[in-house]
Amino acid sequence: MRSDFILTDYGGIKLYEIPSFKRSGLVSHGFSTRLGGIGTAPYDTLNLAFHVGDSPETVIANRQIVCRALGADTDSIVAARQVHSGNIALVGPRHAGRGAFSYDTALPDTDGLITDRPGLLLSTFYADCVPIFILDPVKKVIALAHAGWKGTLARIGAETVNKMAAAFGTEPADCLAGIGPSVGPCCYEVDEPLIRLVRDEFDWWPDILEHTKNDRAKLDLWTANSKIMSGAGVKPDNVEIARICTCCNQQLLFSYRGSREVTGRMGAFLMLKTALP
Ligand SMILES: [Zn+2]
Repeated sequence: MRSDFILTDYGGIKLYEIPSFKRSGLVSHGFSTRLGGIGTAPYDTLNLAFHVGDSPETVIANRQIVCRALGADTDSIVAARQVHSGNIALVGPRHAGRGAFSYDTALPDTDGLITDRPGLLLSTFYADCVPIFILDPVKKVIALAHAGWKGTLARIGAETVNKMAAAFGTEPADCLAGIGPSVGPCCYEVDEPLIRLVRDEFDWWPDILEHTKNDRAKLDLWTANSKIMSGAGVKPDNVEIARICTCCNQQLLFSYRGSREVTGRMGAFLMLKTALP
């Protein structure tokens, strides 16, 4: 399947990038792979999250490697304790460094981060869930949202756009969005209770559920989140989709499902540049 994202080599590590974000010249951004870090199995090698059992020193060293590629300082990271909620935080300079060097200091119970302030490196972490990147290039506002099935049902992508509109006057039609590497419909078979929730929530459920056997179905979180963004007023042409399955690409990416649950996390990173063009 064609990917809208591009994989760029930064001398040792590779980052997936969104072409429209790169063209904007407004942001540093990327989605990491598992390659180029210092960690050992089952976190080999570029695990970026503290909460999965890896050594904190390794996580910090790995974050420094990624921050160098992004041209950011590690202490500009703003990270959250992600809980599959619909909670979205507006963050500013006072949040710089929250969750940068330990899990304890991360913003509690939060799955979306928004800022209009340059120099803050919004960071969220993944091993199958869907990373959503949003850039309003007119008002110069950025956001990340973490959408597993719960966040998808909570329409966290749309809620994030709504919150950008309320706080900063963002027009959804101006927004650029990216849906990053995550578990694909190829590898995401779900059971009857979740099928029912999806059918109850989305009129367009036939577009995202493909029934298999024994009352199970393949769920397409990429299309779901793309349609959720369009529903919030983001132009479909402005939504770029990686279409890269974490579970199918475990040499390159961490997968919670593929690894039977003990594994590392990739990071989604987004920062408004301090010297804007
Ligand atoms: Zn797959």
